[in-house]
Amino acid sequence: MKSFVCHNVLCPADADIRWRFLGNNLVQPFSCRGRTFLELAPEGLTLLAREAFRDVSFFLRTGHLEQLAVILQDPEASANDRFVAMELLKNAAISAGGVFPMCQDTGTALVMAKKGEQVLTGADDAWWISKGIGEAYTEENLRYSQMAPLSMYEEVNTQNNLPAQIDMDAVPGEAYDFLFVAKGGGSANKTFLYNKTAQTLSPEELLPFLGKSLKEIGTSACPPYHLAVVVGGMSAEYTLKTLKLASTGYLDSLPDKGTSQGQGFRDRSLEAEVLAMSRRLGLGAQFGGKYFCHDVRVIRLPRHGASCFIGVGVSCSAHRNILGRICLDGLFLEELDRDPARFFPDPAFDPGDAVSINLNQPMDAIRAALTKLKVATRVMLNGPMVVARDLAHVRLKAMLDRGEELPAYFRDHMVYYAGPAKTPAGHASGSFGPTTAGRMDPYVPCFQEKGASLVMLAKGNRSFGVRESCRKHGGFYLGSIGGPAACLGKDCITKVEMIDCKDLGMEAVYRIEVKNFPAFVIVDDKGNDFYASFLR
Ligand code: SF4
Repeated sequence: MKSFVCHNVLCPADADIRWRFLGNNLVQPFSCRGRTFLELAPEGLTLLAREAFRDVSFFLRTGHLEQLAVILQDPEASANDRFVAMELLKNAAISAGGVFPMCQDTGTALVMAKKGEQVLTGADDAWWISKGIGEAYTEENLRYSQMAPLSMYEEVNTQNNLPAQIDMDAVPGEAYDFLFVAKGGGSANKTFLYNKTAQTLSPEELLPFLGKSLKEIGTSACPPYHLAVVVGGMSAEYTLKTLKLASTGYLDSLPDKGTSQGQGFRDRSLEAEVLAMSRRLGLGAQFGGKYFCHDVRVIRLPRHGASCFIGVGVSCSAHRNILGRICLDGLFLEELDRDPARFFPDPAFDPGDAVSINLNQPMDAIRAALTKLKVATRVMLNGPMVVARDLAHVRLKAMLDRGEELPAYFRDHMVYYAGPAKTPAGHASGSFGPTTAGRMDPYVPCFQEKGASLVMLAKGNRSFGVRESCRKHGGFYLGSIGGPAACLGKDCITKVEMIDCKDLGMEAVYRIEVKNFPAFVIVDDKGNDFYASFLR
């Protein structure tokens, strides 16, 4: 049984947690002046953090897997909802093998800790926690995503995914409690803070506002989401911290009502309304349907009379949160689910037919095949493509600005916006899912004008500018499912070769070969955009 200590307005979860015991040789009790203290060898912090970021990279909570299984059984779910849910379940099963992390973006390491005043380490706790995080990222097939600034305009990858964000609160007692989160960039980018006024605090104002905010989130953070909304907060940063905790489920047992002293609470009826609204949106689990969200948490906090902060954010399909605890009994980590395959449907899921697209042909022939398809058509891609994302796009644009020709690979192949996790020994590729397409939007018109980037593959919606450019230059944007990177890396990518910008690490340019790589036509050469009608 987990017991958190109540401090300030947030009174977090008292939930049944299944714990994994990591040992008790690093904790030692001692008494002084009638009080019991816990002496913790700092190596215990390293062990706990290392195991936490290993586990959370490969395993999910049972509740999250159950929510995916529900989609497969729901007659109101769209065929595309079910297809995405099945891919995510298959992905979880591959990832649970402990070789391919569930997503190629293995995240920024976030640690929120509550240290009891009777816990003594005699050390710099954040340093020992960071050591464990660094060990997890360097020893496993994870990705290094952290960029260190050398100057305002120069950055280098830190090569160990550090630094981590580590926040600690002091609380009474002799236990040390932790929430570890591996937050992907796409998911973090869908964190919104609004400075509203008291006028927003009515159903007539708040619900339409939240409806607009859902559209702003869009699909690029890999739905189905665990959506969180926080209304109020004594400061902007407090609102956002509460938002992050809410999205992980950490605040689930908050009470249903406020108090005159400012107790934060959950508004469960508004949660139900926002969930229903998300289902009416039509975006579904990425390609149309009902399951934009698995669930919604709405937290109401006290506020200064002149401010009304509202935070809106998500935890994505890589719902990577894990609790830890150090107490007199030893070191414990929340037990995540190691057998996702038991949620596979019986009889087996039949995805129906998809259109096969041969990428082993000239770009004009690929476009001639795509132009026959309607938006939302599911395709299976087979053949070579080129991988290039943010920093490679910066370099390619600089070539254009200098009056140079773009490389032939950028004209001859479909361009996949992605950056892989490490390749496990004996495999062709590591986890290798798509990144958010929208960040590359500004480059598309100038590249397509030069005959490059005519067929793109990534996740999420595109801008009006991209739609218009595709219409003008005969381009296409295909949506890959965001989330099942382990599946794509293990089953669909048969060869990976770095061909340019080698100094950019995971952001280098690669040539890859794919087989039966699933995608959907999102933007076509006639000005159609699958997402446009939902997001208007
Ligand atoms: S599932 Fe999507 S949003 Fe989440 S970390 Fe992976 S790529 Fe990013």
